[in-house]
Amino acid sequence: MFKRFKFDKNIQIFISVKLNLPQRFKAVIAWFEQNMPIAETELRYTDPYELIVAVILSAQCTDKRVNIITPLFFERFPTVDELSKATEEDVFSLISSCSYPNNKTKHLIGMARMLVNDFGGVIPDDVNALQKLPGVGRKTANVIASVAFNIPALAVDTHVHRVARRIGLTYRAKTPLETEKQLLKYIPQEKLTIAHHWLILHGRYICQARKPKCEECGLKEICRYYAQNQKETIEKARKNHGKNNA
Ligand code: SF4
Repeated sequence: MFKRFKFDKNIQIFISVKLNLPQRFKAVIAWFEQNMPIAETELRYTDPYELIVAVILSAQCTDKRVNIITPLFFERFPTVDELSKATEEDVFSLISSCSYPNNKTKHLIGMARMLVNDFGGVIPDDVNALQKLPGVGRKTANVIASVAFNIPALAVDTHVHRVARRIGLTYRAKTPLETEKQLLKYIPQEKLTIAHHWLILHGRYICQARKPKCEECGLKEICRYYAQNQKETIEKARKNHGKNNA
């Protein structure tokens, strides 16, 4: 899928051929299926309650840090009911090494109390109902629905938003909601859950925010961002080549 541009023996540049949107989605999904057949959350949990707690704690915090905090947390508060009776001091002391511990303390207790009072202590499997819980926005609700209940939903976090835009799966999507809507048009329902993990893991380890590792990325052949960078490099090389031969 590469075209090769050669200016002299030192300068060879490869640039991907143009793909239309359905072709790009097809190619990206096929690449992930082949190279990342298993992709799962790195948060440790055993049931929907533990997952919702872990996801709330993971906002602006690493999964690694959350996985250090949660074993003790679940030992102290093994159920929604136990958490609903917690004091702020108890919760805060267990999650103080996490980012935004004050807000998260309030959200966790508020979430547990609402679950007990309004949902019979059961985590709902509906995205709209989930979003009523303190600390649960659209992204978290989609994670719980898709990961815990296998409901077709696509959670868009900062990694998904950035990676989808760079590869060229979305176009001028300014918000996570716009990204979600654009991705939902082309990713088959049965692949939504794993697609969420593909894009997160790729963003975490390869397509990093500040310095994407394009040269070691298996998607560069079909990536719009990489193609644009290559075009700019070609332009520069052309100019320099022209100058040197003038
Ligand atoms: S080629 Fe670069 S920008 Fe494109 S997906 Fe890979 S790491 Fe990200």
